[in-house]
Amino acid sequence: MLRVPTKETELAYYTGVISDSLLSEITQTAERLRGCRIVHVNATPAGGGVAEILQSLVPLMCNVGIDAEWYVIEPDADFFRVSKTLHHCLQGDGRNLSPEDIEIYLEHNRKSACTAKAMGLAADLWLIHDAQVLPLIRYLNSSPGVWVCHVDTTRPNETVREILHPYMCDYRMLVASMPEYLPAGNNSCRTVVFPPAIDPFIPKHRPLDFCQARKVLARLGLDPDRPIVSQVSRFDRWKDPWGVIDAYHIARKEITGLQLALVGAMTAGDDPDACEVLADVQQYSGSDPDIHLFSDPFVIGDLEVNAFQSGSDVIIQKSTREGFGLTVAEAMWKRTPVIGGNCGGIRLQIRNGETGFLVDDTPSCAQTMVTLLQDRKLARKIGEAGRESVRQNYLMPRLLRDYLHLVLNAVDGRGPAAHPQPETTATVFSNN
Ligand code: UDP
Repeated sequence: MLRVPTKETELAYYTGVISDSLLSEITQTAERLRGCRIVHVNATPAGGGVAEILQSLVPLMCNVGIDAEWYVIEPDADFFRVSKTLHHCLQGDGRNLSPEDIEIYLEHNRKSACTAKAMGLAADLWLIHDAQVLPLIRYLNSSPGVWVCHVDTTRPNETVREILHPYMCDYRMLVASMPEYLPAGNNSCRTVVFPPAIDPFIPKHRPLDFCQARKVLARLGLDPDRPIVSQVSRFDRWKDPWGVIDAYHIARKEITGLQLALVGAMTAGDDPDACEVLADVQQYSGSDPDIHLFSDPFVIGDLEVNAFQSGSDVIIQKSTREGFGLTVAEAMWKRTPVIGGNCGGIRLQIRNGETGFLVDDTPSCAQTMVTLLQDRKLARKIGEAGRESVRQNYLMPRLLRDYLHLVLNAVDGRGPAAHPQPETTATVFSNN
């Protein structure tokens, strides 16, 4: 197990950004948990949404008096191959895991638990993120754990879900971003629904005006004087980069000079499929000089992601499965209109036609791109509404508040009652 260092942050930065009532609710709740030791564990320290959340949530927990730390399991190529398949299966892939694959998965978790014990790692509560490390709590054989499911399990591969189900039952509580992700038949476990959030104070989300952003995009080879649509996402089959290219081809017939950027810096160590998807997408995009693919983490850093999210005319997130989709909230925060695939956490974030657009297929994606590129007044209105929706629902203090309540509940039931497993709608918490 490796400890992941994080940069300090302060709840006080949010004064004036979120409501005073949320700030005081956080400080009062945190007071009841002062000194409580929370250990977060996931598979990778960088790349993808979970690492993004923990880099801000952990120091924010520390700032309010919690003794929080973040650990990742040791990287292992074989394990990552299996755990990636597992991830795909939970999102609906029909493949099955062989008994050998399952043993690789369990053995790496067993080993990680042994290391944690040898290091003397202890916690009042373990917060275990995603399926890669789901079995860990069984082998740790220590204090209570909460499992946080970050993926879209709306239509999982049932065989694989059944394999994982006994490990889910080891947890005192389960957390998911949407009620429909909570696995059926988990009656023994208490379940809570709350979505992730973004940290507006990290460098990637620093205010960058449109002209500055366009200068960065010009340095990356795009023409700053022509329209740009972008998707900022790992190269992953569930993000449907092929559909984005198809939609661009249709839209370009009406929008002269349209450019497309697909941006996915390869930083996630647990994502062995990304190279394969990228190679396929490179071939699919052909020799069109106006399709720009970016995958090099030495080229695409925080400033560049910020520039794509702030300087594109439209952001696409055409996923077919999406646990939450931080990239959606990130672009909305930057007042850029977002077109999202009508699935998972994107449905939660976008009120169709008000804070963004939801699309079910490629032609509607293309048509919505054209509408937003031609009607700049509409684009601005959607951008403003998107920003306000993120301010109210998807900033880090709201997530901190939800975790604090969760911890109170899970440790000894001192907090407000756990949210019961809802039927169809997510329990969305508002800042105000
Ligand atoms: N991201 C990044 N650089 C890239 C592509 C994505 O920093 O080239 C970040 C993005 O800003 C977001 C996270 O990776 O914070 C992706 O999280 P999301 O929930 O959208 O998707 P996931 O990768 O977890 O499926």
